Amino acid sequence: MAGLHVRSLLVTGANRGIGLGLVQHFLRMPNPPQWIFAGCRSPKGQRAGLHHGDAGSDLPCVGSAEVTNPASIKAAAAKVGEHLGGSGLNLLINNAGIIKPKTLDSETLEDMTEIYTTNTAGPLLMGQAFLPLLKKAAQGSPGSGLSCSKAAIINISSIGGSFSSFFTWDVIQATSYRCSKAALNMLSKCQSLAYREHGVLCVALHPGWVQTDMGSSPPVTVDDSVQGMLKVLSSLSEKETGTFLDWEGNVIPW
Ligand code: NDP
Repeated sequence: MAGLHVRSLLVTGANRGIGLGLVQHFLRMPNPPQWIFAGCRSPKGQRAGLHHGDAGSDLPCVGSAEVTNPASIKAAAAKVGEHLGGSGLNLLINNAGIIKPKTLDSETLEDMTEIYTTNTAGPLLMGQAFLPLLKKAAQGSPGSGLSCSKAAIINISSIGGSFSSFFTWDVIQATSYRCSKAALNMLSKCQSLAYREHGVLCVALHPGWVQTDMGSSPPVTVDDSVQGMLKVLSSLSEKETGTFLDWEGNVIPW
């Protein structure tokens, strides 16, 4: 990926699905990042597809990076900071997410709360906890512009959270999920406004409708989605901070 030179990155929900695909693609780059932190909430759990030392690299799994638990997030930030020594973190990809494919009538307070906590509050807390490391990376990069190679937060959102496209409504209503992603889009905008002065780019990114445990017979493979997203990441600059894009680089209406 010509325009993407990342020294360090962290992906949440990296044990399977799109998160695992992202880590694998970064590992396969001709010049892979020096530090790839794979955030897994149960690094030793049955569903963990990625472990410390995979692909022959020094791949630290940041312990139980449970994005709904502030103590776990704080511990993960401390661990990443230790590994990085004095340097900063270039890229934080908030990928972990959950969905409950319910109808509007069957949504509950518990569903709304659980999904909002994971999909929206998680990325907020991750951004807060990792901001000092992101700032450090931005300060260590020359130039005044913004880029993913310098310092960035990428929130993996969904077109399901767009008010303008009621994508797949007939198949999955999943109102709690749609609301959580619409709120994640607003969070991404707020982060872009607050963190621009620190040199940190922030975008919301829809990965496509992807063949993972979450999707049901979707058209896009994990490989194609990740390749597309990495191409988009390589092209981002200050013009795009605070926008909502998809894996092919198209702007998605809020
Ligand atoms: P998967 O269900 O395959 O994977 C979800 C990942 O998130 C798993 O690694 C899971 O860990 C992790 N996760 C869930 N809750 C938490 C938590 N509280 N703390 C830490 N990790 C957690 O989903 P996808 O890979 O498909 O989705 C990745 C992202 O892409 C999500 O944000 C999703 O909303 C978004 N997206 C996906 C689309 C698709 O078609 N697949 C479409 C649009 C958006 P564990 O194994 O422990 O459960």
